[in-house]
Amino acid sequence: MPDKQPYIGRFAPSPTGPLHIGSLYTALASFLQARSRQGLWLLRIDDLDTPRNIKGSGDSILKTLETFGLHWDGRVAYQSQTLDVYHEILDKLANDKLIYPCTCSRKTLTSVYSGICRNKQTLPDSPYSLRIKTDNRFIAFNDRLQGLMSQNLADNGDFILKRKDRIIAYQFAVVIDDDRQHINHVVRGYDLLDSTPRQIYLQQLLGLFTPDYMHVPVIIDEQGYKLSKQTRATAVDLKKPHAVIFELLNLLKQNPPGELQHAPLTELLSWSIENWNPNRLKNCRAISRLG
Ligand code: GLU
Ligand code: ZN
Repeated sequence: MPDKQPYIGRFAPSPTGPLHIGSLYTALASFLQARSRQGLWLLRIDDLDTPRNIKGSGDSILKTLETFGLHWDGRVAYQSQTLDVYHEILDKLANDKLIYPCTCSRKTLTSVYSGICRNKQTLPDSPYSLRIKTDNRFIAFNDRLQGLMSQNLADNGDFILKRKDRIIAYQFAVVIDDDRQHINHVVRGYDLLDSTPRQIYLQQLLGLFTPDYMHVPVIIDEQGYKLSKQTRATAVDLKKPHAVIFELLNLLKQNPPGELQHAPLTELLSWSIENWNPNRLKNCRAISRLG
């Protein structure tokens, strides 16, 4: 009876800069989905990619969420605090011969890895990544907004669980941590839809639960690019949380009534929880900020 289980969702930003409107959009969708189902909304800082981390941005993200009234449950989790767990599981996968070291450099590789290091018998002397063996199989899942998705694992080849620079790869870490936090509903940006089959494959291999997925559209700029730190999206304006949430609700197609434009933030958020209807975002991949 999966419906009787309490909803446990999460928001998992990377501390690579302050929250911009695109990430706050995802945070709000994930928050509303959890709160409208009387669920828990956990917060995890995905801080494994140390070269990309920006000092202080984890704290600034927390502060921004608080300012916007998006209060989370329990203590904040940090991926950097579970490093031994990933390594334990990697050891197990190595024992089962499911992962192998790869020394190939990005330059020598074509877009899909051919698996040429698969049969290496000894650990290389030079830096290596750890790849998981994949095969030619379709992984399908039913996304809450995007519908039935199916992908052949071979499209991505043997993917990396631990990078050459010894950093645990996103695809692997996210699966372990979602499981550790008992997440049963993942709401995140459309840009991660394509990663989901790889994550489900790892869940199946490790005997872990597969959460429900809901990929919300990403916010794009006038040029059609996803707002991101790379496109230098600016931090959200902390001085006008109410106006920002109001705009985000429109971008989430929730059409808040005009009289709420000047209501207190808590009232706007209660209205949004009560009236939250994600179906309006069905099959939508991107939303332009300018309408
Ligand atoms: N930390 C990832 C990011 O910043 C999101 C992880 C996820 O939602 O699966 O994009
Ligand atoms: Zn290789």
